[in-house]
Amino acid sequence: METDYKMTIGLEIHAELKTKSKMFCGCANVPLERTPNIYACPICMGHPGTLPVINKEAVRKVLLVGSAVGGNLADYTEFDRKNYFYPDIPKGYQISQYKFPLVSQGKISNINLTRIHLEEDTARSTHETPGASLVDFNRAGVPLLELVTEPEIHSADQAMNFAKELQLILKYLDVSDANMEKGEMRVEVNISVAREGERGTKVEIKNINSFRAAGRAIEYEFKRQSDLLKRGESVIQETRGWNEGKQATISQRKKESAHDYRYFPDPDLPKLIISEVEEFKKDNLKKLLPELPNEKRSRLLKDFGIKAEDIEVYINNENTGKFFEEVSNELKDKELIKLASNYIVSDLSGLSKNSEDNLLGNVTKNDFVKLIKMIKVGDLSSRGAKDILKAMFEDARDPEVIANEKGLIQKNDVEEIKKLVEKILGENPEAVREFKSGKESLLQFFVGLAMKETKGSLNPEVFKKILLEYLK
Ligand SMILES: [Zn+2]
Repeated sequence: METDYKMTIGLEIHAELKTKSKMFCGCANVPLERTPNIYACPICMGHPGTLPVINKEAVRKVLLVGSAVGGNLADYTEFDRKNYFYPDIPKGYQISQYKFPLVSQGKISNINLTRIHLEEDTARSTHETPGASLVDFNRAGVPLLELVTEPEIHSADQAMNFAKELQLILKYLDVSDANMEKGEMRVEVNISVAREGERGTKVEIKNINSFRAAGRAIEYEFKRQSDLLKRGESVIQETRGWNEGKQATISQRKKESAHDYRYFPDPDLPKLIISEVEEFKKDNLKKLLPELPNEKRSRLLKDFGIKAEDIEVYINNENTGKFFEEVSNELKDKELIKLASNYIVSDLSGLSKNSEDNLLGNVTKNDFVKLIKMIKVGDLSSRGAKDILKAMFEDARDPEVIANEKGLIQKNDVEEIKKLVEKILGENPEAVREFKSGKESLLQFFVGLAMKETKGSLNPEVFKKILLEYLK
């Protein structure tokens, strides 16, 4: 049975760093530029006799990520040449880090990291022109962070959660836009499948360009490898690509091992002693750390006591989180804050289903605070509140004005409601008798009459309470 098998996953994640210039030359760092080959120079094109220069900002950004995840920052570090031939790698080698990465260890979402190092991105090849392959060097030499985890992930969900959390951290630190669809963040999965206590064969999956694809690819590969093992066949160590159209992994090539790359320290680049550079010192890096996703989670829970699902919305959507906090600071009362959070997460997000970036539409803080207070004192039914919120979303307006226009203010005047109760009871003596003899379902009948009488502008809860006092 498939359940006899266990998968073990390690992740290798690349993220393009946001810097002004490329990793080793002065070319602008614009990897998504559509006009090909406008950001290229003799250095990133690998011409003989040129000399690379290390981008300080890129090193600082990797060290910043290292500090954020509790990693050990190297004191001594160096760059190595990773030798292989491919048209997208003009020098015949990629400058990367091998023995002395900038960061080792650290932890994200309870998964241990092996290392975080810095390297340069490759050019982009396209094979769309018949009979030819084209290479665009705008991306060649863009600073690339590579993060490697320990092989201690055992499910697709765990892998996706890890990648999402890393993406958040990179965004919070403002070191990368980390958009997977745009290729700014790329996830490679190393997965092996074996019976408990046994060792499987490692298969690498590439070409994953969304979190969803990562999850699918892992599930697919788990099943493929389990099926092979069940039939008594063996899994081949290889690199496979995720094919979105086929929803399958396809064999690409046999995996190279590290010694095939003939790594050696790049003789053109100086070794770095991190502690000698002022900006790289631990204390200086610490000063630059913003509030990180996990710290924000704890603070939102502690300060506002809201649901974990709500907190995730605020963690993932900066503007909505800011709006929630501004509203909460105005409302102060915990009950009101929970109510506000419900309306933000359930109702506003329902209205903005077409745009994840703008959950708030045209709703302003002051109008929203006013709306929540109106709901709380019972001026509005929840149906009415939703209608008003929709109007506010489309067009920034005062909820009270909208409520009056639409006749949505509920009647809460106790004296007035008492009169209404007396009128309804007087007109329905038969129903009153039946209610008193135990037919409690008639309560809804009375509420219905009252709502009809007031054309829906009554607060049904207040009415019920007063009605029951009369009937006792
Ligand atoms: Zn260049």
